[in-house]
Amino acid sequence: MALSKQVKEYGKRFSKQYKAAFKTIKAYDKIVVFRHLKPDFDAMGTQMGVVQFLKDNFPEKEVHFVGDDHVSFTPRLFPETEKLSEEWFNENKFLAIVVDVGDASRIADPRFEKASAIIKFDHHPCKAEIAAPELTICDIDAAAASEVVVDALLHFKGMRISKEAARHFYIALVGDSGRFMFSSTSPHTFAIAQALLATGIDISAIYLTMYEKTINSLQNQAYVLSHFHVSPHGVAYYLLPKEVQEELHITPELGKENVNLFSNIKGINAWCSITEDPNPKDYCWRVSIRSKRKDISGVANKWEGGGHAQASGAKIVDIADLDKFIADLDALFVEDN
Ligand code: AMP
Repeated sequence: MALSKQVKEYGKRFSKQYKAAFKTIKAYDKIVVFRHLKPDFDAMGTQMGVVQFLKDNFPEKEVHFVGDDHVSFTPRLFPETEKLSEEWFNENKFLAIVVDVGDASRIADPRFEKASAIIKFDHHPCKAEIAAPELTICDIDAAAASEVVVDALLHFKGMRISKEAARHFYIALVGDSGRFMFSSTSPHTFAIAQALLATGIDISAIYLTMYEKTINSLQNQAYVLSHFHVSPHGVAYYLLPKEVQEELHITPELGKENVNLFSNIKGINAWCSITEDPNPKDYCWRVSIRSKRKDISGVANKWEGGGHAQASGAKIVDIADLDKFIADLDALFVEDN
């Protein structure tokens, strides 16, 4: 496929890494693709896109993917994640490809550490190096990890991105760019979308599957709409304690399902879901924060999380700190309203 102007330009800054990554991929017979815990569209779509790309272009290689499943994306959008045994990891020399995660402790399977080589494609700020610099392709300004990976794959000579791989990558791109609405969306994001569309993917079928809701989720919406709060400077938030989740028949993973109900409301600058996660190993209230314009990732970092300017995740360990957390977010918007 002929490369567009944006793709050609973008690739220049990573040309050394692209060469090294392509050479490394060709050198390994066994490859395992990893992504972050509690996956979203970008994590799963990028992971599965890479897996499909490898299977299409290197049918002789053994390719695996690992991590936790998603409560509603699996198997609706993506296949169930493989359960790869401890023996496999101990007995095989393999390459790990890690996508969409900047923090090693958030990689969904810690056995990436057993890999003989690691390639990382990402768009998160990196807390500590996961792969060697020549095999790290990271652009924190990219709208999605998928945008970064697809650019690299388009530069791999003689390779093709199939319709099936493109479908995964497109889901990832749409998911993390907020349907191309977040400010991270650039001409390059659209150039990548264009390249994916050119494979013949059916985008209306993709959107229908991605955003399909259940009747139960309408009941969740009704709960959110009758129980949300708004801070003085326009931070909307709702809490889903364990008992409410039981009443609504949802698990903590679905707490953020309705967060974007507040995305287009005049006077609301940021919005969050705050969901109790009773998991005894990591008890906390999981927060998904979204913002219309201002960068909320600093507040997310302060509250044991991180992410992007307009979509971040955080944790409140003791719910008695709720007011402090909301005050931190609220302070960002004092001048707005
Ligand atoms: P979520 O609200 O879980 O959909 O997360 C929104 C974005 O923030 C995603 O890109 C996540 O990868 C990122 N994110 C969520 N939690 C964390 C965290 N603890 N550290 C770094 N990034 C995070």
